[in-house]
Amino acid sequence: MTRRRVVDPGRPDYCGKCAARMQEQERGGTVRPVCPRCGWVYYARNATGAALLLERDGRILLARRAHQPYKDWWAIPAGFVEYGDSAEETVLREAEEEIGIPVRIVGLFGVWFGADDPRDVAHLVVYRVEGEGEPRPGDDVAEVRFFGRDELPERIAFEAQRQAIREWARRGGGVVD
Ligand SMILES: [Zn+2]
Repeated sequence: MTRRRVVDPGRPDYCGKCAARMQEQERGGTVRPVCPRCGWVYYARNATGAALLLERDGRILLARRAHQPYKDWWAIPAGFVEYGDSAEETVLREAEEEIGIPVRIVGLFGVWFGADDPRDVAHLVVYRVEGEGEPRPGDDVAEVRFFGRDELPERIAFEAQRQAIREWARRGGGVVD
């Protein structure tokens, strides 16, 4: 299988250990930045995003993004998993920060991969959640709204999000068990 070529925004020009200028060398079949002085090798890693799929009456909660990239495009409320955190912890935190209500996780909906986020290539882990109260836009969110499967917005940000929402709609919305 051919590797896809994606730009790594974190690729270093200088060694993270000794600050020498990095060189391109093959390591494990891939050309990577290698430090000619101390031998440090930079391995790019995919990021992880965690998203919360909250459904009510067969409709899915989406958030309109308040910032770039994809400002004003819609997405399932989500955030990057911080180093050392689990995806579950991230979902619980993002719920309070982005939609203003506490949620509980009721199951894993699925995992998708996207290479079109300029900040990081990432897997998106989508959890089904439940929660009471009226969602309201919090950090990084301009608006939150529930959408039925036949009224989804055209502008959905990110490949992995589009795949997840398409899968939700394909399963009929509302009933995913
Ligand atoms: Zn070095």
